[in-house]
Amino acid sequence: MPFKISFKEEDCIGCGACVAVCDENWELKGSKAKPKKTKIKEKGCNPDAAETCPMGCIKVEEE
Ligand code: SF4
Repeated sequence: MPFKISFKEEDCIGCGACVAVCDENWELKGSKAKPKKTKIKEKGCNPDAAETCPMGCIKVEEE
């Protein structure tokens, strides 16, 4: 089952928490985080990134 990452960039405060728990798919670009991929086959650590984000920017949804 493929998954889609949705990311509210406008709410991101660039704290880096998502990168700390999931650098497999998250990186900091300037003052914002950015997903390396938004279409993924396996959730991997992305739910951890979603859970740790203090701004609720990240969602992992079934396609
Ligand atoms: S954890 Fe959330 S607020 Fe912090 S950098 Fe990642 S997406 Fe942005």
